[in-house]
Amino acid sequence: MTGKPLSINLPTELKHSIANCSSLPSLPAIVLQVIDASKDPDIGLAEVSEIIRTDPALSLKLLKIANSPLYSLRRTIHNLREALTLLGLNASLTIALSFTLVRSLKDGQEKSEDHKNYWRRSLLSATIARHMGFKLGLSNLEDLFLTGLLQDIGILALECNDPNFYTSSEIDSLDHASRVSFECEAIETDHAQIGAWLLQTWHLPEKLYMAVSKSHMNCNDESLPSETTQFQQCINLSGSIADIWLSDDQTESLKCNLNDIKETLNINDEEFSEFLKDINNMIPDISNLFDITISDSSSRDRVLDEARELLLERNLQVIKQSEQDRRQLDALTEKAKDLEHETLHDDLTGIYNRKYFDRVLEEEFENANLNRWPLSLAFIDIDNFKHVNDIHGHLIGDQVLKDIAEFINQHIRQTDIFSRYGGDEFVLLLPGSTNEVAKNMLSRILKQMRTNDFGKMNELEKRPTVSIGLASHLDGHDFDNITELLKAADKALYKVKETGRDNISSY
Ligand code: GH3
Ligand code: MG
Repeated sequence: MTGKPLSINLPTELKHSIANCSSLPSLPAIVLQVIDASKDPDIGLAEVSEIIRTDPALSLKLLKIANSPLYSLRRTIHNLREALTLLGLNASLTIALSFTLVRSLKDGQEKSEDHKNYWRRSLLSATIARHMGFKLGLSNLEDLFLTGLLQDIGILALECNDPNFYTSSEIDSLDHASRVSFECEAIETDHAQIGAWLLQTWHLPEKLYMAVSKSHMNCNDESLPSETTQFQQCINLSGSIADIWLSDDQTESLKCNLNDIKETLNINDEEFSEFLKDINNMIPDISNLFDITISDSSSRDRVLDEARELLLERNLQVIKQSEQDRRQLDALTEKAKDLEHETLHDDLTGIYNRKYFDRVLEEEFENANLNRWPLSLAFIDIDNFKHVNDIHGHLIGDQVLKDIAEFINQHIRQTDIFSRYGGDEFVLLLPGSTNEVAKNMLSRILKQMRTNDFGKMNELEKRPTVSIGLASHLDGHDFDNITELLKAADKALYKVKETGRDNISSY
């Protein structure tokens, strides 16, 4: 660390005006002493104890807080010395600063609704920032409390400087964001900078006033060390979480922050609900310790009710969303299926195409070899099809192709794969079928084709016939590869064509 503290930039005129503002309370001696003590790394228990003892109200508060459920020290603390030891010197001094600052700043102010809201929000923010830090396992919880408590002190400074500053505008004192934009427009800075500057002039620790100066920033800066970022995130979110208790429309303020909060704390809906409940339970003790009424029990119940309702609504939305996602996925799957169908089927006949057949043949040839079961393959070629086209035209030719494909497809077994091989040639793959079984089946098809009335249907002068060439792997012949099997079936087909057509031949 360099010795030179970071400074806060404020418009010079505003700085002078606030510095010379007579209504801004000067810090009482006790506060100054505590500030000095908290900056002294060598300070001991006896010295801290001496400083705090000079302020009986402060001593009492420290004892009270050490015994409050907030600190769950699990044993009764009887004296200041014990409280200081158990809370730790740094924490004790920070707590002392929180009390003495609130006391001196709250004193002498008229108790307008706006001021009450100011202190409510500050104390709630402090409690929330501290509890967030606790949940995140951070070590400097009292620093979080004090920073949360003082983050909006610039508002008080601006009001002391000009009591009509906010009242002249139309802003809703409960809407923090619009307050900030009003300030930026009116004085070219915001209360975070003014507050930070004030805390710097009071010689409070640099860490504290720098965190205040950044309290309106989006603190997702990944270049910061994670402990620093988390500290800042706790501060920056604390105010907007406090608004859940204070704003008229809690559901709205909940909605705005829910995601940020859950992401920072890395918690789910139920855990967030628990978090709100924790804060609700702390409110009476904190209110009591600082003599500030934060909210009555009915509004605390309302926070939980609305949180519950909102979370329920969100869960419903999640369900709705996942239903939508599922439907979208179904549609995509359907589309993919269509595409798959398109790429694997023949446009004209609707049966499998050559691409699909090649794939299946490879798999089935391998299966046959692995399991030593037979694999039969038959080429089925329309006889004199060129003639059909020549006499009746291509459209009728197409219809004949379709009819024959459909006919054969209806007469094969489910496990057989029937595809258009190309042109007027089909191929049928019969996994597990011996040559005899395949031949019988194909002969039956040939017979049935002879009695079928394609001719009539397509007004052909001559009934169309087919020739079939069959080859069987691992049933009499072991073929080395697919090509040999295909060649054999082709050879058999050629033989039928040579010897009169409308028949079947086996290799
Ligand atoms: P073979 O008995 O020796 O098989 O005689 P073929 O006339 O059937 O044989 P060839 O190979 O000489 O002719 C096949 C014909 O099939 C040629 C081509 O015009 C026709 N053809 C191929 N694909 C289609 C198609 O999609 N639609 C139509 N209409 N005709 C087709
Ligand atoms: Mg032909």
